[in-house]
This record gives sequence, structure tokens and C-alpha cells, in this order.
Amino acid sequence: MPHELMDEAAKSKSCMPSPRLTEVVLHPEEAFDKKLFQHFLQTKFQQELKDGLKVIPLRRSIDARGKNVKVKVVFQIANPSEIKTAYQKPEAKVSGKPVIIVGAGPAGLFAALRLLEFGLKPIIIERGKDVQSRRRDIAAINKEHKVNGDSNYCFGEGGAGAYSDGKLYTRSVKRGDVRRILEVLAAHGAPDDIRFDAHPHIGTNKLPKVIAAIRQTILDCGGEILFNSRVIDFIADDEMKGVKLANGDSLTGHAVILASGHSARDIFFLLQQKKWKLEFKPFALGIRIEHPQPLIDSIQYHTNMRGCLPAASYSLAQQVERQARKRGVFSFCMCPGGFIVPAATSSGEVVVNGMSPSRRDSPFANSGIVMSIEKEDTGKFLKHQELSGLYFQQDIERKACAAAGGNQTAPAQRMVDFVNRKISGTLPDTSYVPGISSADMRETLPPFICDGLRFAFEQFGKKMKGGFIYLSLALLYGNNSSFVSFAKIKIRYGFSPRKENYFCQRLFGETQQ
Ligand SMILES: Cc1cc2nc3c(=O)[nH]c(=O)nc-3n(C[C@H](O)[C@H](O)[C@H](O)COP(=O)(O)OP(=O)(O)OC[C@H]3O[C@@H](n4cnc5c(N)ncnc54)[C@H](O)[C@@H]3O)c2cc1C
Repeated sequence: MPHELMDEAAKSKSCMPSPRLTEVVLHPEEAFDKKLFQHFLQTKFQQELKDGLKVIPLRRSIDARGKNVKVKVVFQIANPSEIKTAYQKPEAKVSGKPVIIVGAGPAGLFAALRLLEFGLKPIIIERGKDVQSRRRDIAAINKEHKVNGDSNYCFGEGGAGAYSDGKLYTRSVKRGDVRRILEVLAAHGAPDDIRFDAHPHIGTNKLPKVIAAIRQTILDCGGEILFNSRVIDFIADDEMKGVKLANGDSLTGHAVILASGHSARDIFFLLQQKKWKLEFKPFALGIRIEHPQPLIDSIQYHTNMRGCLPAASYSLAQQVERQARKRGVFSFCMCPGGFIVPAATSSGEVVVNGMSPSRRDSPFANSGIVMSIEKEDTGKFLKHQELSGLYFQQDIERKACAAAGGNQTAPAQRMVDFVNRKISGTLPDTSYVPGISSADMRETLPPFICDGLRFAFEQFGKKMKGGFIYLSLALLYGNNSSFVSFAKIKIRYGFSPRKENYFCQRLFGETQQ
């Protein structure tokens, strides 16, 4: 990769100011063809390389505003000694009383890596299988419509992150040290481009290897991972002591980190039953939309030949009104060159989500189009109080399943028919392997969501310049629901207050509130 090659550069000192930043504008071919990119670097920075400096791409972004698409690349030029890596794999072996982590999703795996850095031993308890063995259960969902409640697109090593898309960017302004996370992933085999792409992406085909490499680091350093082990209860009095497993075993440790994710409904039920503090959290819910990728490319890149450019994406947002209050409808988790996949964790429910391989070379583009949901929107489920969002989501997922025949077939409707309140007579090609069945989205989604989506689609059609084409070629899938949490767990339960303070400070750099 580019900056590794720079390591070969001569070691002499330079008289140029260092470090410095340089922005260059490249043709897409030069920026995305690895050989051409290398050639550009060697030629443009010949002198700097001779002087023993490192030339590191810091940010690569596509500017598609004009007729001809350009790519901006910012390079940092620095003495090798000035370049700091944000992450180094831990090497020391840990032992002693463990910290228990519930769940081997991204949160659990990263918590384990962090514990190792502080010399603490993690034991991860995961209800599902290791990332390779999960494949068989995922194939069974797609081919036989069989959903294993402990091993599916959301559960198993790597959690919902393993067979996900691997987009590594966010609109959220509450960011941690993003660079460090990218470095951790790159150190475990993710493509080096994630360090500098404006919209870094790993791809579903590469993620399982990255997750297996993270597991290896955890094991090499003395951590443990227990698969096929579902946590069914907590052991706690004044302090959090440990967990009980479905197989009858118990484990105790210094602390318990709950990283079971938002799909673990049983954990939310358990917490509610124990009367531990939960709070409703506004979330978003809607449908997934799919287009032919060439259509999105032609709208975004103003050409029918995208050449070296990556499959084009979009990001759309629209304010709609609900009961005299503004609500957001927005695109979410856009997967250019991707597939729609069945992400339910129980049979009798249909939830779809999207992913794409690293090359993003499927002929389809999909994204979630979702509307923000407040507590009062959950209607008849308000009686479930802080878990009203869970019941609201579940109801929609059950209706989606029923509307399409009761298995993992997804209800689908052309966008133009949805806007005109018509059932689709025919459906176009789909990327969704379990299959689709024509249905009216109004059977699965509450009227206020359908109204909000309908208004937003019309506005999106105008914004996307493709206008009506955008509407008529688009296919809607029900539904994109369980992708964010509907409740906050308000406990910082455990240890003596002094110890909790100690762990919070060391792990998360904060003190007890
Ligand atoms: C198809 C798809 C594509 C996605 N694409 C992206 C993307 O491109 N970018 C992005 O940022 N996000 C994406 N997401 C969302 C992302 O995967 C999740 O936000 C993320 O995985 C959440 O991490 P987590 O560790 O908090 O929870 P999870 O990933 O849900 O992990 C929780 C883990 O806990 C385990 N667990 C649950 N209950 C128990 C129990 N009782 N006992 C033991 N173990 C338990 C589960 O098996 C699971 O492994 C995608 C999701 C899907 C499904």
C-alpha cells in the first residue's frame, strides 16, 4: 500500500518544513487504480522520497459537483520519526480475575482489546458460533428460510458487524477517536485505504477475516472467548459479580460489560423484569429501497461510464410534519453495489438490511429510508413504557412477515405504486436471495410512516435530478427496523463505587456520574 512503499525511501534528512500537508486533484483513474496511484506518488514526490521523508495519504474524497468528476487527495509529508501510529497490537499476556464481556459484536471485541491494553483479562461470552461456522446458518436463512435464534445475521462472533457492510463513517457528531478504530481494523487485516478514504468501507467478504484476526489477538494475549454460551441472568447484589449461562454454568469476575447489542430482546426483557433502569430512546424505522446501480451512477457522476470510480452512493434527508412537529426522513446505511439481506433474529419476523462486498460490484444499490420515531408514536404499545419501541418494532416485523407469506420472503412494492397507493402488478429483479412478494407497504407500516415516506420520496425524486426515473425504477422492501436501539440502559451497576470509578476511568476515560 502507498505509505508502506514509502518505507523504502532513503533515510537522509530533509531541509523542507516537516510535517506539511499538500492537496492534489487527480483524475479518478489516477486516484483509484493502485498502480497509477503509486506511479503518481513516486513521480510527484520524487524529491521528498529521496530526502527520506514519508508521503502518507491522509484523505481521499470524490468531488462530483462538476461535469467531470475529480478526486481530491490530501497528503502528509513528514519525517518518519514524526509519524505516530494510533494503535499498536498488545503483546503482553494477561491473567488473573477476568472482566466478563457479554457479546462478541464490535462493542464486545473492542472492549476486549482495550482491556488487554490495560493488562486486564477479558472473557467474552457469545450466544452464537464463531464467524466461520455462522456461514451455514446464514445460508439456511437465505435458502431454507430457517432462522436460528442464536446464529444469524445479527448473532454470532462479530455480531451484526460480521456479515454487515463495513461502512466506517457516521453522521453522528458524538465521535470518539475514529482514527484509532480504523488503525485497529487495519492492523487486523482491513484494507489500508480505510485509513484515508473519506467514506471508508471494508466489505462483507473481508470482514470475517478481520474478526477472526481480532479473536486471535485476544486469545494470544490470554483472553478467552466462549461460543454457544447465552447469558440468561446476572449475578449481582450491591455489586455486579457475574453472569449465569443457559447451560447452567456461572462466571464471576471483576466487572461485567454488557455488549449484547440492540437485537438481544431477551436481555432487554430481563433488565425490565429486574427493574433495572431503562429509558425509551428515540429511534428510526422505515423501508429499504433498491435501485439499479447504473441509475445511481448516472445521476451522481453525470455519465453512464463510471470507469475506475467506486459505485456511487447518495445521502438524502427531508423534514416532514407529524402532528405539527418536524420529523426527519433520511437515507441510512446506503450500500452501493450491494445486496439486501434478511436480518431477523426469530422466525415469524421479517427485517431487511443491506451489505456490499469490498468491490461493490453487484448491479444493485440499496439504502434504508427511515423516519424518526418518538415515544408517543408507539401508540398502543405505550403501555410497555420504556420498551414500547421494542414492541412497536416487533409488531411491524411480524406484519411484514405475514404480508409476504410467513417465511423470510420480503414484502415489496415499486416506489411509484407506493406513492400512488397501488399494489404492484409486477416486480423488477431483486438482490434479495430469499425472494420477494408483492404487497402493500401500508399493511406493514403505520399510516403516519407511510405518509412521511411518501412525501419525502417525492422530494428526493426532485433532489436526485433523476426525478420520476428515481421513482419508477425503485423497489421498496419492508422493512428496515431493528438497526438502532429503542431503549437506553441507564445502569452503571457494579463493584463498589470506588472500583466502578476506577474501571470507567481506565476503560472509557470518564468518571462515575
Ligand atoms: C446487514 C447489516 C449491515 C450493516 N452495515 C453496517 C455498516 O456498514 N456500518 C455500520 O456502522 N453498521 C452497520 N450495521 C450495524 C452494525 O452491525 C451494528 O450497529 C453493530 O454490529 C452493533 O454492535 P454491537 O457490538 O453493539 O452489537 P451486535 O453487533 O448486535 O453484537 C451483540 C453480540 O452479542 C451477542 N449476544 C446477544 N445477546 C446475548 C446473550 N444473552 N448472551 C451472549 N451473547 C449475546 C450477539 O450474538 C452478538 O454477537 C449493519 C448491520 C447489519 C445487520
